[in-house]
Amino acid sequence: MAEQDKFVALVSATAEVTLPLGEFQPKTSLVTPDNTPLMPRFPVIDYHNHLDSMQPDDVLRVMDACGVEHVVNITMKVGDEAVAIIDRYHAASPERFSSIGWMDWNGVERDDFVQVTLDRLHRLVDHGIVAIKFWKDLGLTIRGADSKLLRLDDERWTPIFAECEQLKLPVMFHTADPTAFFDPIDRFNERYEELAAHPDWGFSDSPVSKRELLEQRNCVIARHPGLTFVGAHCAESSEDLAYLCEQMDALPNLMVDISARASELGRQPFRAREFFLKYADRILFGSDLLPEVEMYRLYYRMLETADEYFPYPSHASRQGRWHIYGLSLPEDVLRKVYRENALRLLPKLAGRG
Ligand SMILES: [Zn+2]
Repeated sequence: MAEQDKFVALVSATAEVTLPLGEFQPKTSLVTPDNTPLMPRFPVIDYHNHLDSMQPDDVLRVMDACGVEHVVNITMKVGDEAVAIIDRYHAASPERFSSIGWMDWNGVERDDFVQVTLDRLHRLVDHGIVAIKFWKDLGLTIRGADSKLLRLDDERWTPIFAECEQLKLPVMFHTADPTAFFDPIDRFNERYEELAAHPDWGFSDSPVSKRELLEQRNCVIARHPGLTFVGAHCAESSEDLAYLCEQMDALPNLMVDISARASELGRQPFRAREFFLKYADRILFGSDLLPEVEMYRLYYRMLETADEYFPYPSHASRQGRWHIYGLSLPEDVLRKVYRENALRLLPKLAGRG
């Protein structure tokens, strides 16, 4: 057999690698500038966070250290526990904290569930909530008396949304989840390690597809044009910005928060930047991570700088093995996304001047 050409041998060589994925921790050899801002260009309102486990003073210390003016706590509790947490934050500082209530599905099989929900809603409003959140359990896991999965666009909920409209109470939807969570958890899944840490986040066996869930949600948003809806996590569409733009164009009463989506926005910086410029009036800053100075600064780095290839802010199990790029957003866009758009949803705070 003729000896293989040296260059052909070089470009054809491969190896079976047996290093466990969890042990593979490559360090980038790229040398790039780090322009991480210590403070944001404008005071920040974090419209999406969960502070139930924390004490207001500890949160305030972090906020003061990195320019966060106000945090909206989305309580994940219901009933008396929710009210206690809401009161705790509002008593600590009504200027620095607001609260979003959590839709309570307890008793959904009852005939009078809608009336019970309206009463619960009024109680939360009396305690000062600024919005109500419908989580992904609606559509994916909650079942009614007939043991069928509840639908978001079920007409039974129409009086609830109508009441929110009456109360001028925005509705936040966290519907579905990242696209990879609906794919099989196998070697092709780009969020394999994260799903391994949270097997209950996988919905590949869900009878309802992600797109169907988003369409159910969009049907509700279209039915209530006078009510403002916030699509949490870029309306769960950040893997497909063309589809997100389509939804933004079709639903003028839809705003989005960017919480927990720096990983997605920052890995497609050119199109993400266009998205921010086009919808600058409808995008809210949110973190969805335990308040930490470094976490907030990573968000500022993504939004403000033109830095390249740096880690995204994330929880411990990360979201995928990639890095992100800065979007270098102009001042007027930063001002709106950091603060002004949220103020429109926080009339009491805005009124305080
Ligand atoms: Zn959240």
